[in-house]
Parts: sequence; C-alpha cells; structure tokens
Amino acid sequence: MPSAAELMRKVKEQVRQVDPTEVHDAVENGNGNRPVLIDVREQTEFEDGHIPGAASVPRGFLESRIEGSVPDRSQPVVLYCASGNRSAYAARTLSEELGYEDVRSMTGGITLWKDRGFDVEVPRALTTEQRSRYSRHLLLPEIGIEGQLKLLDAKVLLLGAGGLGSPTALYLAAAGVGTLGIVDDDEVDVSNLQRQVIHTTDRVGDSKVDSAEVSVHAINPGVEVVKYETRLDASNIMEIIEGYDVIVDGVDNFPTRYLLNDATVRLQIPVVSASILGFDGQISVFKPYDGPCYRCLYPTPPPAELAPSCGANGVLGVLPGTMGLLQATEVVKLVVSTGEPLIGRLLLYDALATSFTELKVRRDPDCPICSRDPGDISAEEMGVFPDYEAFCAAAG
Ligand SMILES: [Zn+2]
Repeated sequence: MPSAAELMRKVKEQVRQVDPTEVHDAVENGNGNRPVLIDVREQTEFEDGHIPGAASVPRGFLESRIEGSVPDRSQPVVLYCASGNRSAYAARTLSEELGYEDVRSMTGGITLWKDRGFDVEVPRALTTEQRSRYSRHLLLPEIGIEGQLKLLDAKVLLLGAGGLGSPTALYLAAAGVGTLGIVDDDEVDVSNLQRQVIHTTDRVGDSKVDSAEVSVHAINPGVEVVKYETRLDASNIMEIIEGYDVIVDGVDNFPTRYLLNDATVRLQIPVVSASILGFDGQISVFKPYDGPCYRCLYPTPPPAELAPSCGANGVLGVLPGTMGLLQATEVVKLVVSTGEPLIGRLLLYDALATSFTELKVRRDPDCPICSRDPGDISAEEMGVFPDYEAFCAAAG
C-alpha cells in the first residue's frame, strides 16, 4: 500500500497544475477563454473567503454538482482548495472520470494565492439561526446561500391582507423575504376567517395590517413588516410602491388594478397578479417590457354590470390558498431568478374539476401604456388616471 504522501505525489503527477499568478492573470485579463474557477473546499471554508468569481462545489459533491457550474466539458476549469491537495484529487476525477477536457489544479491553493497578495472575497454570511431556519433552502442548489440572501434582501409589497394576501404573506415570511409591505385599510371581520388565514378569531375588529403583522412575526420575527393602513389610489400609489422589488396583486377591484398596472409599468416593477371567483382562479406575472401588461390583456374594464369585483361574491374558502401560494411561488422565483415565471402565460384553475389550463398571452403593440417607454408615461399622467370609481358606482 502506498502511503498518503506517495499517493498524493502520484495524483499530482497525473493532473495538470497551474500557478496562482497564472490563474490571476487569466482571470484579470481573461478573454473568451478565461477559466471557470471552482472552489472544492467545504461550504463553510468558501464562506470564510474565496477567490472572487469562484463557484463553490465541495469535493464531496463534485460528481453531482459540477455540471451545474460547468455544463460545457470543453471549457477550461481551474480547481483550487486550501493548499492544492484536495483540488488535485478533484482534478483527476474531473478529467479521468467525468470527461472534462481542460482541467488544472492550482498549486498552493488559496493560501498561496493570498501570499501572493491577490484579492479574496468574503461573502455575507447567514447567522447560525438563519442557517438553521433556512436549511431546506440552502440544500437546494437553485436557491442556496446566494438565493437566501436575495430573499432576505427582497422587498415585496402585498396589496391586501385578504384571501390571497393571507397565505402569500405567511409563506413569504416563512421563506425569509426580508421586507413585507402590506396595504389594507380594512378591519378583520368574522366573515373573513373562512379563507383569510392570517387573521384569527380573537383579532376580529383589529385592523388587518396589525393582525397580519402579528401572524408574520409569530412565524418569523426577522421579517420587517411595513404597514400601509390605507387604500391604494392615484394620490399615494407612486409613493407606496416605489422601491419594492415585486408586487403581489390581490386587489379585488378594477380601478385599482388599472391604476396599479400603469404605475408599475412606469416604475418597471413586476406584478404577480391573481384573482378568484367562486371555484375559479387565475394567475399571471406582469413583468413590464418582458411580457404583456394587464392592459394588453384587458384594454378596458368589463361592463359594470358584469364586473364581479364590485360587490360581495361567494368564494370557496380553500381557493385563495391555492392561488395565493402560486403567487408566493412566483415571487420566490422572481426574487431568486430561477425557473420560468408565469410571464406571458395566464394560468386558469378550476377547483371543481381540479384542472389547470394555460393560455399564452402576448404584448399588445398598441397597448396604451406598455407600448411606450416608461419615461414617456409622465408624472402628471400618474395623477390623472381615468376615474374608474364611477364605473363601480354605476354597477350599484
Ligand atoms: Zn400593455
């Protein structure tokens, strides 16, 4: 049996090695052929400081995760660890077993890199509590620490703490969205409790934003809740929505939907929009200039007598849960930038039939709002949205 030292020497003879200075030059002055840098140390070592731009693929996960970071086997790859030993073993695996064509192990590892005076990036870390709380996210390569930090930095605005807003807020809070704005001027009524699960029987009569804040903090005290106990209208919309990364639209009336659409196109904020009636729900993501806006789909509101949002309607209590959680899922995807959001797609859900139908929806080149540049939708125009209030009043 060869000793560990002999084995190491043999492996190092088998793999190509590269000096840190050469790696530094290749990365700094890299043209099209700059190598992909892979840090094969443990995740915790990576988090204590790594070479800028390097991806973390711990040696124990090399076989299962390398394709995520380096899908093209002909791409030049430089592996490094602390001192150059683990990366030598990993380099042998990549070239001999996984078919990577241009693999090198950096001699002396990040220790020699630092000795040469090259930069090291120390990423923001999660606290021990956060690491534990979000551990099931951290295990997903699509989210991981980077995605969790994006969620923690995210500001999401919920329009309404009602049927749709309730489940959305609860799950976004649990997922670690750092700031949740909630707009609602209503109070908790006993008739809400059949579906608005963020509220409780003992909080009937309390303001919905206060009640929602209590539930959010009970799940996750780390979430900052910004309460807007008001109705969204032309006079306050720009001030309220500015600075949010994503807006969750659960509003139940057309005037606010149109107002919201125009303002979000102007500010280029994506909106995850859902609506429910009876046993039916629908959801889409309106990401300004990436896909259609609400007006592209519905240039004008339906006739007042057909507008279901103007009065009280029946709704299956579970339905807003289903639709709200689809909204929460879209929010997480948008924040983390993963998956395929529902942009340009309208998803219809029929709870009685248990069936989903997907419709393609397109931008209208003549759309009164999103066919123009956001800068052309003037500030004055924001204040003079058509007065749709009259339209609901007409419905009686
Ligand atoms: Zn449009």
